[in-house]
Amino acid sequence: MKDKIVKTDYDAVIVGAGFSGLYMLHKLRKLGLRVVVFEKGDGIGGTWFWNRYPGARCDVQSLEYSYHFDDSLQQEWEWPERYSAQPDILAYINYVARKFDLQKDVVLDNEVKSASYDQNSGKWNISSTKELASAQFCVMATGCLSSTNSPSFSGLEKYTGETLHTGLWPKEKVNLRGKEVGIIGTGSSAIQSIPIIAQEAKHLHVFQRTPNYSVPAQNHKLEEEQNLIKQNYSTYRKKWEQEFFAFGVNEPAGEAASASKETLVTEYEKRWEEGGLMFLGAFSDLIIDDNANKTARDFIKNKIKQIVKDPATAKKLLPNYSVGCKRLCADTGYYETFNKPNVSLIDVSENIIKEFTKTGLLLSDGTSYELDSCIFATGFDAMTGSLDKIQINGKNGLSLKQKWGDGPRTYLGLGISGFPNLFHIAGPGSPSVLTNMMASIQQHVEWIADCINWMSKNGYTRIEAEDNAENDWVNHVNEVAEGTIYPSCNSWYLGANIPGKTRQFMPYIGGYPYYVKKCNEVASRGYDGFSLS
Ligand code: NAP
Repeated sequence: MKDKIVKTDYDAVIVGAGFSGLYMLHKLRKLGLRVVVFEKGDGIGGTWFWNRYPGARCDVQSLEYSYHFDDSLQQEWEWPERYSAQPDILAYINYVARKFDLQKDVVLDNEVKSASYDQNSGKWNISSTKELASAQFCVMATGCLSSTNSPSFSGLEKYTGETLHTGLWPKEKVNLRGKEVGIIGTGSSAIQSIPIIAQEAKHLHVFQRTPNYSVPAQNHKLEEEQNLIKQNYSTYRKKWEQEFFAFGVNEPAGEAASASKETLVTEYEKRWEEGGLMFLGAFSDLIIDDNANKTARDFIKNKIKQIVKDPATAKKLLPNYSVGCKRLCADTGYYETFNKPNVSLIDVSENIIKEFTKTGLLLSDGTSYELDSCIFATGFDAMTGSLDKIQINGKNGLSLKQKWGDGPRTYLGLGISGFPNLFHIAGPGSPSVLTNMMASIQQHVEWIADCINWMSKNGYTRIEAEDNAENDWVNHVNEVAEGTIYPSCNSWYLGANIPGKTRQFMPYIGGYPYYVKKCNEVASRGYDGFSLS
């Protein structure tokens, strides 16, 4: 406690200085509130601050993955590429912070350890590395993919080589030239970094537990297209927000289940050439009908067999579950990389990584690999991991960990029963990661700011999600997910990548437009489903 600054005059404390926390700061400050952001890192940017691994790039197009609350901002910022690389996104968020003078209210290097609701004062007490603060509102802007997952391999402490995690990549350049490099995992982070690391490493050993589906990003420099969109930016933004995933897609070519073989091939080939996640929008039934989904996965599998020259390697790269069930990846030269002589693919699904040794790692059949560097591309404790690291106590001392013991429960992904005046941006139950995150973030932040403004105008100081409303929303989120292919494989959406985590589909897959409509209805009915006092 000694040496910590004590501050009791905030109206709101925001945890996390990524895209959501910074915009929340901007909105609440505009309402005249005294606001501070506490950020663990020594820089702003959240996901884009930490994920600086080689090849890190967004899989939503730059012109869509950007704020649209200020027209001058969206007009003056120039995106170099269709899909932005991490340094460009980090430069953008720093530009935004300078333009709106946000940095002065951000305390960096300041990890939040606990947040407790004091029923007597009606305030949140927030304890961080540098400050003990209290505030009427606490907003968790902690991100969906910010708590890294590092499997506890036996013997890791003996390993004398270098270890790296894609989600905690050092700021300094990592030199992998001429080295024997191992990478564990083949999710989006690995799929983006493998082609780049293979250019440098003496040999790259890819340890794959489950193959993933990937389609080409077909990334390119942005030129005329950017000017065209900027001439009509607000019209485009409105159009994108009417889409199920809140990003631009070409109309589906009907239903795959009833399409002819010719139509299927023509449409999939077209989407493959266009590149990106819009591949899954080729037909309207791909995420709800597994037979339809099979047509898409067969197409991708054929592509893999055509691209990868060694049939044994190609076979190992073929997934055996529905495409989209684990997040689809968008790559640049991923499958092609396995044709390089310095890259090998090791299947560790059954012959698992048994342990690390002093100089590398050992599989259960006794095969050993000598590694100078080992990269963990092993993902995140998604959606709940960052909150789990903070001791959060609501009414009557109820801890969030206790409350979420059987899986996370929220109302609209924004409020939690038992935790008054605590808002969560892109929490479980929000469409978040299944949409263009920037659209969801902006909608959540604006909804929260409007709610706080409405409370103040109507003489309320306290808001809390009601149990019934929360239960109904959780049931709805589960019900909608059950009608899709999403719960059919082990994904981080379900928490299935973390040993012991309750299996529950966390994001909302009812579509962005329906979600927005529901949030607007709740607000227009005086925050229906929330109790106010
Ligand atoms: P991920 O998709 O969860 O992939 C983690 C990988 O590590 C999986 O292949 C997993 O295998 C493997 N793994 C985990 N524990 C293991 C173990 N004990 N032994 C062997 N393998 C193990 O994580 P990610 O690649 O970091 O991506 C997470 C999400 O971040 C993405 O889905 C995406 O939403 C986001 N992201 C987006 C971009 C982008 O915008 N382009 C880039 C990177 C990340 P299993 O599948 O068998 O569990």
